[in-house]
Amino acid sequence: MQNVEIFRGLITIPQEVVITTHHKPDADALGSSLAFARYLKKKGHRVTVISPTDYANFLAWMEGNNDVVIYEGNEKEAERLVQNAGLICCLDFSNLSRLHELGDKVAASKAKKILVDHHLEPEDFADFSYWSTEAAATAELVYQLIYDMGDEDLIDKGMADCLYAGVMTDTGSFKHPNTTGNVFRVCARLTELGADTAKVAKLIYDSNSIDKIKFLGFALNERLTILPAYNTAYFAISQQDLARFHSQTGDTEGLVNYALSITGIKFAALIVDRSVMIKISFRSIGDFSVNEFARKHFEGGGHKNASGGKSGLSLEETVSKFENLLKEYKEQLTNNIKTFA
Ligand code: 5GP
Ligand code: MN
Repeated sequence: MQNVEIFRGLITIPQEVVITTHHKPDADALGSSLAFARYLKKKGHRVTVISPTDYANFLAWMEGNNDVVIYEGNEKEAERLVQNAGLICCLDFSNLSRLHELGDKVAASKAKKILVDHHLEPEDFADFSYWSTEAAATAELVYQLIYDMGDEDLIDKGMADCLYAGVMTDTGSFKHPNTTGNVFRVCARLTELGADTAKVAKLIYDSNSIDKIKFLGFALNERLTILPAYNTAYFAISQQDLARFHSQTGDTEGLVNYALSITGIKFAALIVDRSVMIKISFRSIGDFSVNEFARKHFEGGGHKNASGGKSGLSLEETVSKFENLLKEYKEQLTNNIKTFA
């Protein structure tokens, strides 16, 4: 983590700032971006959040949501903002490819760049990097950075809700091993600063459409494969499945955790045909690194126990590639795994 005085130097003069985050942002990506935007506005800057794509409706309550520019469909406006920016802040991703097309524009821009992130193996593109894999969420780092700047009093209720949402979701509601003492300390402060923990949990987890719940039932009954010989379970979801349940962005979020929740399962995947590509979510319990697995075989990455990747093959081909790879990892998946269970 670089000295915060470098950051202070970069934000001394009021300027045009762009904050961006990864493709299909989740609560941590969007919540930390919106809170950081509000902070930099309070420091006198003109700030725009650009998301490469749309995101789940259950994030629309976040303060500042209405001002987010979605790159897909507003390319010209977003490109103008990137070109005019003096500072570009990259939150919750560490590889510009996670911005897809927008990544090339950011790379080409002369703006100074800031990285605030907690993913493994970051690309080296930032002038100031506030990066730690010890952090459970980017939102935890955004809180910490504002605190280190001596500006905790600038965190208002709207920002506290956004940051709390990021930490709550990236720790799996304080269940994952990344739930450190610091996570609770930060969340305690965010609560004191106004975060409404019950409201945030309700808005994120308990605001499901009927279609989403029916889709969950369908996926559990019809699309879950369990491979006890590899302690592995996965879902394979087709484009037709998504269409049948009028699937919206965010409707598959959390599904992979049901596979991982089965007793004995150490490795879970959710393989979804998104038509432009096959998108995959990986999760594990214990020592098996899904970051390495995604990086090596599916052009992805992330964290040790939660990662993502993609495939240019068909859904069936991707499933058989995945199943075949399990043979290579059989020993790791069955013998060597350290878990709580
Ligand atoms: P999810 O499965 O929830 O989409 O993502 C799990 C974790 O892996 C998140 O931290 C996410 O940022 C990361 N991730 C998801 N997809 C990709 C990808 O294609 N590449 C990389 N490098 N990380 C990803
Ligand atoms: Mn995150």
